[in-house]
Amino acid sequence: MRRLGVGALTILLGAGVASSEDLFEMKKVTEGVWAAIARPLPVINCNAAVIVLEDGVMVVDTHSKPSAARALMAQIRTITDKPVKWVVNTHFHWDHYQGNQAYVGAWPAGTEIIASHATREAIESRGIPRVKHEIVTVPPQLERLRAERARATAEAERQRLDDEIGARSAYLAELRSMQVTLPSLTFEKSLVLYRGARSVHVLWLGKGHTDGDVVVYLPQDKVIVTGDLLHGWMPYMADGYPYDWIRTLEAASALDFDTVIAGHGDVMRGKERFALWARYFRDLLREAGEAYARGDTLAEARQKVAAALRPTYGPAFGSRFDESIDGNVNKAFRVVGGVME
Ligand SMILES: [Zn+2]
Repeated sequence: MRRLGVGALTILLGAGVASSEDLFEMKKVTEGVWAAIARPLPVINCNAAVIVLEDGVMVVDTHSKPSAARALMAQIRTITDKPVKWVVNTHFHWDHYQGNQAYVGAWPAGTEIIASHATREAIESRGIPRVKHEIVTVPPQLERLRAERARATAEAERQRLDDEIGARSAYLAELRSMQVTLPSLTFEKSLVLYRGARSVHVLWLGKGHTDGDVVVYLPQDKVIVTGDLLHGWMPYMADGYPYDWIRTLEAASALDFDTVIAGHGDVMRGKERFALWARYFRDLLREAGEAYARGDTLAEARQKVAAALRPTYGPAFGSRFDESIDGNVNKAFRVVGGVME
């Protein structure tokens, strides 16, 4: 997800310290498998999957900050007394790995942080500069918000800005003290954990949302955990590989599962959303290709491609369509044309 995607959300950390139950709604998917669905609080967190195995627990993804990971750890302790032995980072984006630090030393047996080689490299090469970038760019954002707060006259607007300022200030403080914690165990294509009747397959199926996305697949439970390769919102494509993404979605969709725990949004059933995203990418790339072939400028392409896709994908993606379509057209146009601008 884009950084600091707090938008106009009005729910708040600023009003007080959230209790652990406030950050995630724990939904039991099947015996020993839970979806921790992130509540829509600023600064956003990803969902997690919590998989209780014979001798320990696996958690998939660690949210945007160590305090969020600690909040989930407190919730996990209410469902099992087993230690978290494995954490998976599905990809290198801030809202999926910045909580890693919370797991280090939390249980005496230790916690292995698992990712693809590509994701570990991406955290080192791109994740760390992005954290540093935020540490220098959040303070001026806060100044702008405070100036806006000083001008605001409506009570609801003042409250919203207070909440946003509170949440971003707390996030900045966490970033400044955060030790970026890299994955400790990496693999190229697949890593399988066998535990009694249950096996856990951590699979790199190809490039997609990033170069290193993995899915976590539980064949006996028919559950897949997808990170942001597929989720309940609109695809975020800035670090994506759209042509590969279609094939990777098809490879994931070919696995035998009924339940999808995605990086954002609610638990999903079935495979329809995989087909929707693949169709969307095909249509987006085709329309962007036609715009590029006509000699459209990027601005013209944004307008025309959005107009062509809106009748089909506006209803499918809801309000997120208009929030995300410009960024997606920018990406598709540049990929199709092989251009920077
Ligand atoms: Zn995300």
